[in-house]
Amino acid sequence: MRTIRGRLAVGYAISLAVSMFVFAASIYVAQWPERFNQLDRRAELVSDLVADIVAEASQRLDRVVTRNPSTNQPGLDEGVAALLESVQDYVIILDSGGTILYTSEAPRASLTGAQLVRLAEVARDPVPRGHFGVIDLGPPVGQIRYYVRPIANAGPSVASILAGAPTIGVGAPRLLVGILTSAPIILIASIIVGYVIAGRNIKPVDTIIDEIEAITDGRSLHRRVVDMKETEELARLSTTLNAMLVRLERNFVSLRRFTADASHELKTPLTVLRAGVERAITHPATPPVVMEVLEETLVEVNRMSEIVDSLLTLARVDEGRAPLHLEPTDLRDLLGEIAETASILGEHASVEVSVGIPESPLVLPLDRARVRQLLLNLLTNATKYTRKGGSVTITCAAEADSVVVKVVDTGVGIAAGDLPHVFDRFWRADAARSRTGQRPGTGLGLAICQWIAEAHGGSIEVQSRRGEGTTFTVSLPRADVG
Ligand code: ADP
Repeated sequence: MRTIRGRLAVGYAISLAVSMFVFAASIYVAQWPERFNQLDRRAELVSDLVADIVAEASQRLDRVVTRNPSTNQPGLDEGVAALLESVQDYVIILDSGGTILYTSEAPRASLTGAQLVRLAEVARDPVPRGHFGVIDLGPPVGQIRYYVRPIANAGPSVASILAGAPTIGVGAPRLLVGILTSAPIILIASIIVGYVIAGRNIKPVDTIIDEIEAITDGRSLHRRVVDMKETEELARLSTTLNAMLVRLERNFVSLRRFTADASHELKTPLTVLRAGVERAITHPATPPVVMEVLEETLVEVNRMSEIVDSLLTLARVDEGRAPLHLEPTDLRDLLGEIAETASILGEHASVEVSVGIPESPLVLPLDRARVRQLLLNLLTNATKYTRKGGSVTITCAAEADSVVVKVVDTGVGIAAGDLPHVFDRFWRADAARSRTGQRPGTGLGLAICQWIAEAHGGSIEVQSRRGEGTTFTVSLPRADVG
């Protein structure tokens, strides 16, 4: 169960199940001592009813007890016995000598002869009003609860009446049975209701997550989450997050300011430094040993200038001070300009470079300088990271609403784990090499490429396999981005 919503629903259902169990158990315990009350009251009533019927018959008839002509055994008058047949309970009527005069249908059907005799024995002793007798007759009937009353007004030959019933099946209160049978339905319903209620309450948290997710970089730090007033916790959460965003934005702005100021301040001294070194290099009196040192210094100064330029560009981008100057541009012109640089770069790196220029015009709203910078960055990287004898190809294809430029190389490639980081600032797959001068770089080029593509409303993607080569795909929309 990985969602809070699911956990709440299950927790709710478990607590309901536990309360239902406790409720059912307490009903069971409360009703347990009284479970036979109804049975006992019924035995008393039945015995009174039978006594009334027999007494009333004894007034109508000469005698309610007759003798069976064949066995000479005394028995209840057949007419009276027929009247009593409708009684469902155990009924036994005895005469004063303890002989059974009548046995109702229930005990006749369920008791053995010996069990009947044992029941008849207890029927001799009347039970005081409000009390009840219990006799265990063994299987299959088990315990029988009974009441015995004497009968005085039915003539001398009828002495006592036993009425009773087995206790089998009595015990589980009906409410308890009802609760247990309906428990699964109630539980399922409660899980559904719990899930829906939890979902409603979690929804604002989802909204906050979406809003925070929309804050993807420093440029969206001005955004705030909606003030949630629904509950105290949500109000606290939104207030805390907004306070955190304010602090983050403030820090981010100062950092941006610092980067912009620092790179700006470094620009002029670096230009002066470069001019000085260049002048010293070209001076005829400079000895060869010093010349070597100066050349190395110039390489480093150039690298620093490159970093400072890139940092300044990115700082301006972050501050929103790097506007694009869009104008309808035929991409073929740009590709033509790049082809010249490409052949020089290719020659230098002993890599075969080819730039495919489409035949028909591809006019797009572009910032010429920026797109040239983007393509040159990709081209420089491609030649830089391709071994001698490899190849670099630039292709361009028009699609329905965009133009797709691909820079494909057969170079060293990028490890799958590194791919998500290539557009991060200062990220380099092999940072150590930049210092040895083997593959110099700043780690800022692709971050700038990504900004240029996105600022045009387009995108840049990378596909690569270690040792096989890399493809950068730039997509630029045909529509005016305004
Ligand atoms: P750098 O100035 O170091 O080239 P980038 O931002 O242009 O900085 O590139 C970042 C890193 O991405 C590089 O250091 C390199 O590891 C990797 N990379 C970029 N382009 C390629 C490529 N065509 N082939 C292999 N790796 C590349």
